[in-house]
Amino acid sequence: MIIHLKASVNASQAKDLAQSHAAILFKQEDQHILVTSSKVKELPQLLTDFTDAFFPMESDIQLASRNYQKTLREIQIGNQVIGGNSNHTMMITGPCSIESWEQIKASAELLREYNLKTLRAGCFKPRTSPYTFQGLGAKGLEMLVKIREEYGYNIITEVKDSTHVDLVIEHADIIQIGAKAMYDQSILRKCGQTNKPILLKRGFGSTLQEFVQAAEFILSQGNRNVMLCERGIRTFETKTRFTYDLCGVAFLKEHTNLPIVLDPSHALGHRYGIADLTRASVAMGVEGLLIESHPHPEKAQSDPAQQLNFDEFRAMFKTLRPVASAIGRTII
Ligand code: PEP
Ligand code: MN
Repeated sequence: MIIHLKASVNASQAKDLAQSHAAILFKQEDQHILVTSSKVKELPQLLTDFTDAFFPMESDIQLASRNYQKTLREIQIGNQVIGGNSNHTMMITGPCSIESWEQIKASAELLREYNLKTLRAGCFKPRTSPYTFQGLGAKGLEMLVKIREEYGYNIITEVKDSTHVDLVIEHADIIQIGAKAMYDQSILRKCGQTNKPILLKRGFGSTLQEFVQAAEFILSQGNRNVMLCERGIRTFETKTRFTYDLCGVAFLKEHTNLPIVLDPSHALGHRYGIADLTRASVAMGVEGLLIESHPHPEKAQSDPAQQLNFDEFRAMFKTLRPVASAIGRTII
């Protein structure tokens, strides 16, 4: 149950009420909000005098639920807005990993051709093998900050573990929590304590319920700016890297109030179908797309098979705006 406390309840009272009702407490603007387990269906008697409004919920998808907030959340990213009534679909592109200054500079120039503003590149890479390239780490992040200074872009990069979560929160404009980190509660909680936008990727073995509950860990710390990213789940199928769960996306659109970003690159794992899948993703009317691109994919240190070269990106991109406009959206 979500309980909005009265404005007259002060911080220490709110803390006591939270403790005595096993609730999580956070503050939104001037309002103290308690969230108990969704098993609580009736307002506890002791809370009646302190409560402004309360919302019994069906499951522990609570703050993210459309039954709580009926409208899609609006998220401000630099001077761009997604969600709400914006009808914007944000194209996030860039390499899987930042590898060199020349490489990231070339990627920054590609964005400029289309007036795009959101550049991605991983610095701390959650690789499956310890013997492969692990990312440039803090050095990579420094380069991304330089690119932002030069181009004014919003930079998105991922947090792999809690050793660098503060560093990434400090420097990135959007913090990506990768599929493998989706269950890391120290990362989720830390990301809940900032107001920066968070892109939470779905763990490849996670149900939709588990995925959205991971988002609840962030939301219930007070950060409202959470986006969900579908990037493919593991099924019995081995011909593609993962299975792109667009039915799941339909569920998330219907039942949650969180903006959605679609990542066909990691789902398919091969560049041949990315243009088709990206058009299909645009047609779903989502708030964002995450497409890996690289000046020389064949030389990429991570995910070489799925990254588009710039000519492939250009050929694809020119087909996206007409698809978006057919459903009343603009790509930013
Ligand atoms: C990535 O975006 O490069 C990445 C590692 O994604 P995921 O966490 O979805 O595997
Ligand atoms: Mn990648």
